[in-house]
Amino acid sequence: MSQLYFTPGPAELYPTVAQHIQTALAEQVGSISHRSAAFRKIYQHTDEQLRALLNIPSSHAILFTGSATEIWERVIQNCVEFESFHCVNGSFSQKFYDTANDLKKFTHLFEKPLGQGFDYDDFVKVTDGTTEDTSGKVKIPDYVELVGLTANETSTGVQMRGVDINKLKRSYRSKLFCVDMVSSAPYHSLDFEEVDSAFFSVQKSFGLPAGLGVWIVNEKCLAKAESLKAKDNVIGSYHSLPSLWKNYKNFETPETPNVWNIYLLGKVAEDMNRVGIETIRRETDAKAKKIYDFLEKTEGYEPYVKNPDHRSPTVAVANTIESSKELIERIKKEGMIVGSGYGKAKDSQIRIANFPAVSMEQVERLLQAMKPV
Ligand SMILES: *Cc1c(COP(=O)(O)O)cnc(C)c1O
Repeated sequence: MSQLYFTPGPAELYPTVAQHIQTALAEQVGSISHRSAAFRKIYQHTDEQLRALLNIPSSHAILFTGSATEIWERVIQNCVEFESFHCVNGSFSQKFYDTANDLKKFTHLFEKPLGQGFDYDDFVKVTDGTTEDTSGKVKIPDYVELVGLTANETSTGVQMRGVDINKLKRSYRSKLFCVDMVSSAPYHSLDFEEVDSAFFSVQKSFGLPAGLGVWIVNEKCLAKAESLKAKDNVIGSYHSLPSLWKNYKNFETPETPNVWNIYLLGKVAEDMNRVGIETIRRETDAKAKKIYDFLEKTEGYEPYVKNPDHRSPTVAVANTIESSKELIERIKKEGMIVGSGYGKAKDSQIRIANFPAVSMEQVERLLQAMKPV
């Protein structure tokens, strides 16, 4: 029996993917050269559709990598000479921070307990070089070059709201901001006039097979990478920002890329544009509300994240009274797969992905199956 996946990545495929795979086969996308006009057209189409969907200005390039994990490394190598600052509240934000440490940067850590999130109000505001509002707040130190944020901490279902990210960047304009939006793009609305870089991989909310990272990055980051290179820093060999960017100008990539997935991503982004980003966001909110209301009202469950502002609309995490292993088995018998808890919470939580690929009707079917027996 085919299953419906509510797992937070890999996830249920977007409903149109099967059709696009058929077309890709008919068009022999798996065989075309990555130095051909046919490929450049595919890259350009994907670029245009993502630009429209996420409202990305011409100051930013859209680059392709192997995965989001690769982008953590590329961002640190290309945009940080000495110091980076990281907000950490779960496994994925931790890995971004770990990457900076592995690459021997001087890192600053702002950590919160699992299940808690970050707000604009946590930080000292800096306006025109003057500091205000310092009591009990965190100041991003002067020498920090890059701030790494995670819009959606997939391990715990905690979001940092787009409005807070945008406001924080406006308060620290001189620093480069890079946002991991792997499990929330295209839901999170970032202001790319301000946010320097963001990235995702395609097997989460875009509902595609895994194996492609998407790096949105602006000219300021490029200039930084070039200055690091000029100073003899290592900025990557397989992929560096200047080489990715140079190839991008011609809608090409340094290596033979995942042409297949670049094609599918363009098609799915086009479908999402047809639905409309505002509709996708509204539907995501409506489905999320259904899920969290259920978790609050149903015996045997509670939302793991206490502050409603921090509850992720795209990945809901629930504490379960019954062993989540048994619950997951029970739901599976009804034809649906939900994620287990992450790490230590493996048997006491479930994670439910609320990505655009699943409809309200499917969410209702899941909640029906989750009712206590
Ligand atoms: C899944 C995930 C990643 C890593 O993505 P890969 O495609 O496995 O490299 C990074 N950040 C977040 C928030 C994620 O959910």
